[in-house]
Amino acid sequence: MESWQRTIYCGAPRAEHIGQIVTLNGWANSVRDHGDLVFIDLRDRTGMVQVRADASESADMVLLASSVRPECSVSVTGEIKRRMDGMENPNLATGDVEVHIHNMIILNPSRQPLPFQLSDETQMASVNEELRLKYRYLDLRRPKMQAMLKLRHDVVNLIREYLNRHGFLEIETPIITKSTPEGARDYLVPYRLEAGLFYALPQSPQQYKQLLMVAGCERYYQIARCFRDEAQRADRQPEFTQLDLEMSYVTQEDILQITEGLTIEIIQKLSSKRLGSVPFTRLTYDESMRRFGNDKPDLRFGLELIDLGDILSKTECGVFKSALASGGQVKALRYPQGASLSRKEIDDLTVFAKNFGAKGLAYLLVENLGTGGASIQRIKAGELMVRGPIGKFLTEEELIGILRACEAQPGDLVAFSADKSEVVANVLGRLRNEIGKRLQLADPNVLHFCWITDFPLVEWNEEEKRWDAMHHPFTMPHPEDIEFMERDPAKVRAVCYDLVCNGTEWASGSIRIHRSDIQRKVFDLLGISEEVQRERFGHMLEAFQYGAPPHGGIAPGIDRLLMFLMDTDNIREVIAFPKIGGGSDPLMDAPSPVDDKQLEELHLQVVYPKED
Ligand code: ASP
Repeated sequence: MESWQRTIYCGAPRAEHIGQIVTLNGWANSVRDHGDLVFIDLRDRTGMVQVRADASESADMVLLASSVRPECSVSVTGEIKRRMDGMENPNLATGDVEVHIHNMIILNPSRQPLPFQLSDETQMASVNEELRLKYRYLDLRRPKMQAMLKLRHDVVNLIREYLNRHGFLEIETPIITKSTPEGARDYLVPYRLEAGLFYALPQSPQQYKQLLMVAGCERYYQIARCFRDEAQRADRQPEFTQLDLEMSYVTQEDILQITEGLTIEIIQKLSSKRLGSVPFTRLTYDESMRRFGNDKPDLRFGLELIDLGDILSKTECGVFKSALASGGQVKALRYPQGASLSRKEIDDLTVFAKNFGAKGLAYLLVENLGTGGASIQRIKAGELMVRGPIGKFLTEEELIGILRACEAQPGDLVAFSADKSEVVANVLGRLRNEIGKRLQLADPNVLHFCWITDFPLVEWNEEEKRWDAMHHPFTMPHPEDIEFMERDPAKVRAVCYDLVCNGTEWASGSIRIHRSDIQRKVFDLLGISEEVQRERFGHMLEAFQYGAPPHGGIAPGIDRLLMFLMDTDNIREVIAFPKIGGGSDPLMDAPSPVDDKQLEELHLQVVYPKED
């Protein structure tokens, strides 16, 4: 063993080790030079310990220790001793002890100044992210980032352990392959041996995992990297990781149970957060849209959308009447304590609603009976009073009905949306989230998981004038709805489910089509010509003809899960080497140009856009 090799990690020394001679390896987190006495906080992956060089013990070591700069890599051999009375550091797990240096080796100095003070978390919060990513190897030395890497490892480890226990096989599928549709643009890889041919990086292992079911694997999983060339957002990366799984001879219920069990185990073992409901809440897509205005509701708080169709069925109030007459909806949403918003704040709320498709925002402010102030017109509504421009167009009976249905209290604002059902859902669904955020209604310590089932199979793409798969084209239509496929595709439900957590979609899956006749019908509905079906999916249609078993699966996002566990909205905080901006990696300087020779080998020529 080399004299510098460690015998103990920096995070380990405790009172029970006092008297031991140990060797530590790590980085100098900070150096405090008091002349005859030099302290270094030595840090490795496991934690930090104070080491000291004392002139009364060794003048040479004091000299050497004082030459150490932050982030130098050093090895220290010395004795673990109790710190002097009153000098303990309760913020450090090793804070009762320190290591008196007998010998120290500077394994490698560190360039100074550092690009950022990685030992100072307060300063790190304001460091430019691109700089952090350029020096990611330093950024990742921070205890916070090390904790993230460890948690990520623990999550993946638990997933493997759980699925192995449930009879799954971990199987790798190709990265250079053929395009598989998940609704995003593909990353392409040119093929050298023949001009004009390309591989695509998988948007998911969807087709391979289904083929593994045809191959008799029964239960498959993979910690799978997926590649999607789509617009970047705080919660998206061009490459991201999913737990991809698939099972044969199962129903939707089997997949929900396996996934739910796994999720509960992860949260209970690896997080201090509470689960919102066990078993997980289940909503159909229609119910979720009706009650919360979207298919990924945050169920940590109430505030449901209230349908006023019945209460207003005979209304003479113009906007409401015409919305209902043209087949639309009128719905209301309670804004607790919203009556105290200023005029300007209410105007801002109107702008907010308009941004999501509303024509305006009708509202009522609710007050106690007998509230004074002669300049403002108030209208009696049973035991309460209301004000607001729409009030005078409603009868007292209608007002009473509305307030009752919304369970409105004095001091509340009631907001209305009257429009086509999609617009009403969008406007009030967004408003609900906004109110939840403003009033901090969602408990940050709760993870409320919820299954959304029975999505429509397809949605109309107005731009392209065609039906698009709502999940992906391999999703099984609901057996009861197959008859509508030609007549009324919008009516066809899919055997498809999302797992949503706190307003974010976390996992998505379905029972798959395992018969080529049904698969062809769905391809036809999606406007995929027979020729394209053969070219792109011929292998699937063929495979289904060899006794393909009924099967289904799901794919929860690993990065997203880490975001829930670590309370961050930024996906880059949970990935070791993420991309930034338009998908670039400032550390490796990717993407970057390649040699002409490489292009030639690949039969490629670059056409640069013309400059204006
Ligand atoms: N391949 C799907 C996705 O990436 C998941 C699944 O259906 O299993 O969303």
